[in-house]
Amino acid sequence: MNLLLELTHNISLLFALTFVYSLIIPHANQLRPMIRNILQGIAFGVFGILAMASGLIVGNGFIIDGRSVILAIAAVFTGGIPTAIAALSMLAYRLVLGGAGVLPSIPSILGTVVISLLVFRNQEYLTSPNPIRRLLVLGVINALQGLLWIGLLGGPQSSEILSQVALPLMVFTPLGTVLLGFLLFYQRRQFEMASALRESEERYRVVVNSMNEGIILQSAKGDLRTANPAAEIVLGLTFDQIAGHEQVNPKWQAVHPDGSAFLREDHASLVALRTGQPQVNIIMGIHKPDDTLTWISVSSQPLFAKDSKTPYAALSTFMDITDVRKAQQKLRQERDLLRTIIDSTPDYIFLKDVEGRFILTNTAHAYAAGNIQPDELIGKTAFDVFSPDLATQFHEDDQKIMDSGDPLINAERETVDKQGNRKFVLTTKIPWRDKDGQILGLVGISRDVTERKQLETQTAILAAEQERVRALRRFIADMSHDFRTPLSVINSSTYLLYRITDPEKREAKLKNIEQQSDRMLKLLDDLLEMGHLDEKDVVFQFAEEDINGLVQTIVNDFQAVAASKQQTLEFIPDPLLIMSQIDALKFSRAIINLVENAINYTPLNGRITIRTGIEASQVTVSITDSGIGIAEADLPHIFERFYRADGARTASTGGSGLGLPITKKIVEAHHGSISVVSTPGKGTTFLMKLPIEAAEVEKIV
Ligand code: ADP
Repeated sequence: MNLLLELTHNISLLFALTFVYSLIIPHANQLRPMIRNILQGIAFGVFGILAMASGLIVGNGFIIDGRSVILAIAAVFTGGIPTAIAALSMLAYRLVLGGAGVLPSIPSILGTVVISLLVFRNQEYLTSPNPIRRLLVLGVINALQGLLWIGLLGGPQSSEILSQVALPLMVFTPLGTVLLGFLLFYQRRQFEMASALRESEERYRVVVNSMNEGIILQSAKGDLRTANPAAEIVLGLTFDQIAGHEQVNPKWQAVHPDGSAFLREDHASLVALRTGQPQVNIIMGIHKPDDTLTWISVSSQPLFAKDSKTPYAALSTFMDITDVRKAQQKLRQERDLLRTIIDSTPDYIFLKDVEGRFILTNTAHAYAAGNIQPDELIGKTAFDVFSPDLATQFHEDDQKIMDSGDPLINAERETVDKQGNRKFVLTTKIPWRDKDGQILGLVGISRDVTERKQLETQTAILAAEQERVRALRRFIADMSHDFRTPLSVINSSTYLLYRITDPEKREAKLKNIEQQSDRMLKLLDDLLEMGHLDEKDVVFQFAEEDINGLVQTIVNDFQAVAASKQQTLEFIPDPLLIMSQIDALKFSRAIINLVENAINYTPLNGRITIRTGIEASQVTVSITDSGIGIAEADLPHIFERFYRADGARTASTGGSGLGLPITKKIVEAHHGSISVVSTPGKGTTFLMKLPIEAAEVEKIV
């Protein structure tokens, strides 16, 4: 019983020592490995020596103590070198103590070292799944081998000693090993956990401190717990100022984006704490004492303890968005400016995607498209706002541009506004590409040119009107001249008639009067005919007529006139009898005009040939003369009203200048055409063509 009590004291001492040791472990870890090993060896050596010094002496020099527990613990927790140092120190001390127990104590100490190092090889206690059991086994083995050495080397007293110490050693060595081992093991765990926690805390601290985002942690009461350096920089306040421990410069003011003061209870963190709802991207402006304005975006997250509905803290993060805001403002200003420009131009400006949907459009375009706002047009296609005809036309243009990649420049297009007014626009559409050249849609600009076009039309009408006035003036002048000439001839002839008595001369004068009145009559006839043909409701009496027969009659009628000028007037009819749907009276008039001209503008002894024919499914009538011909400069004008080549006006045979226009009008009313070929001095050929559909052709029997 005494022995048990003594051993308990010894073990208690070891506990106290081990506890002291555990306290210095953290500091020992910072030392160089070699020094640490030596110091640990010395520490355990001292512990062992103290254990031996306070051990229980039995028999003649046997000392019973907790040395094997110390050595086992040293081996398990510190490794070979410190254990060896401790073992040697303890051995030395044991030798000093002397007595019969010295001999068994040597292999006992060495055996404990070797067994302990083997049982927990490489400090396996760190990873061992069940270190307590192994400690227990180790304690038992160590106790047994201690007893074994006493038995073997303890001399004559050994059996008596064994009987005294066997039980206490078998109880206390394993128990001490387990308890001390567990204590150290637990300490080690605690230490490792604490240092892991410290490390992770340190890591977080470094991360939080090096962040550009300001971070603030506030307790439920609103007390400041943490603020990182970025928070102080962004807010322009010290930690104590943020915490409210120190006065803030009154120039420091927080404002809302609209400029109104940001009240304390509006702060994102306090709102998050009050409502339990996260607050995201709350914009706050900060007027700092240096007169700068910093804009920040604050988000606050309420933090909840497990199963609690009231937040215990709020974590706020915020960043300086002054530059972003400035850039955004600049962008907005530029966008507004662009918008103002495109909205104030009267041109239609639009952007369409590949599907033809409007992505952007200006006020003028939206108004023209349907008297709507630009926003209302976004996402719609031309088919949603224009009539199907117009939309199809626009769509075809768009498709062509996007398929070919070629722009459409200033194409004139007709459109209709919402009031149904016809509009003319000049449209330019350019493919819209991304940076890789892929077509994303098109950009279009259309200009309303309706007014310009109307102006052009009006100008054209005005010019035509002016031309008509000019023509009328010319006509009056020409007419006065044309009537004055024959009238003055008639006048002078009448005057002479009164005075001359020679019947032959009187006859000549009377002829003159007759000729001139004929000429005036023809002039009036032509004027009336032209006027008649100009009437809107002029009626043509189409009927089946024999063209050869009709021409023949005219030729016959003019034989005498031609003969008076010693001209040969011949007719070469086509051998086919040509029947055609014509207005015989008017068509005769057309041919007569040409025959009269041929006779008039062909000198004495000339030849006039009239031919009929069929050419390329058309009936032809040509009048060729060997007359004076028409100058090249006059040719383009001879079908104009009142146009007369210079020579013709001075010629005594000068006509009205209406013959050819009358002929042309009649031929065109028959869906035909008239052309002229002439060589001055050689002669002229007029060729009339009538479409064959209007003609029936039969062989002469
Ligand atoms: P006009 O009554 O003066 O003949 P037309 O309209 O019949 O008027 O002819 C216009 C002009 O064309 C004539 O003034 C004349 O100068 C020219 N012209 C017409 N036919 C001939 C022709 N066969 N030979 C030469 N000139 C001609």
